Amino acid sequence: MEIEVVRIGQRLVRDDRVTTHVALVSRGFGAERIFMTEVNPEIKDTIEKINNTWGGDFKIEFIEKWKTIVKKKKDEGFKIIHLSMYGESIDDVQINLRNEEKIVIVVGAEKVPREIYELADYNVAVGSQPHSEISALAIVLDRIQKGEQFKKEFSHAKRKIIPTKNGKNVQVKETRD
Ligand code: SAM
Repeated sequence: MEIEVVRIGQRLVRDDRVTTHVALVSRGFGAERIFMTEVNPEIKDTIEKINNTWGGDFKIEFIEKWKTIVKKKKDEGFKIIHLSMYGESIDDVQINLRNEEKIVIVVGAEKVPREIYELADYNVAVGSQPHSEISALAIVLDRIQKGEQFKKEFSHAKRKIIPTKNGKNVQVKETRD
């Protein structure tokens, strides 16, 4: 399945860490790319450094308007999954989501424009309480992929963690494949 993420909005400075974490969850949980407005240009360097050390080709693309990219992705055949506490329960729609071939998951930062609810193919809630785009995204990515995302190999990684009960076991490889 091809998975991409769109983050709508960002509260200046205050959301920098949250935005970075939305990108890190997208990368670590199997998405290929994230689209966001360019509020914090340094995020590209942060993710490039992570890719360089830990592998993979996860991409960040800066966009002018969320609506343009959402409409473009719909035209390309992606299903739009908007995460909102007001949506249908993830428990009820996860089977349908697993059967989609290409999806774009949209998360907000603050109050999102009403239009996204209409443009979305699915409005999906993770519980009916407000929490966070980071947690909602992680849970939905995990429900869709049923843990398979953690078996994915990140190509040309310089560091690879060998899971261990105590301490740290990291395989080090200095050259790219
Ligand atoms: N009060 C805001 C609103 O009415 O949209 C909540 C914003 S919340 C801090 C930021 C984002 O987290 C939301 O746009 C949504 O994508 C996600 N989110 C928060 N709680 C959620 C939930 N229970 N289910 C799904 N997504 C959620």
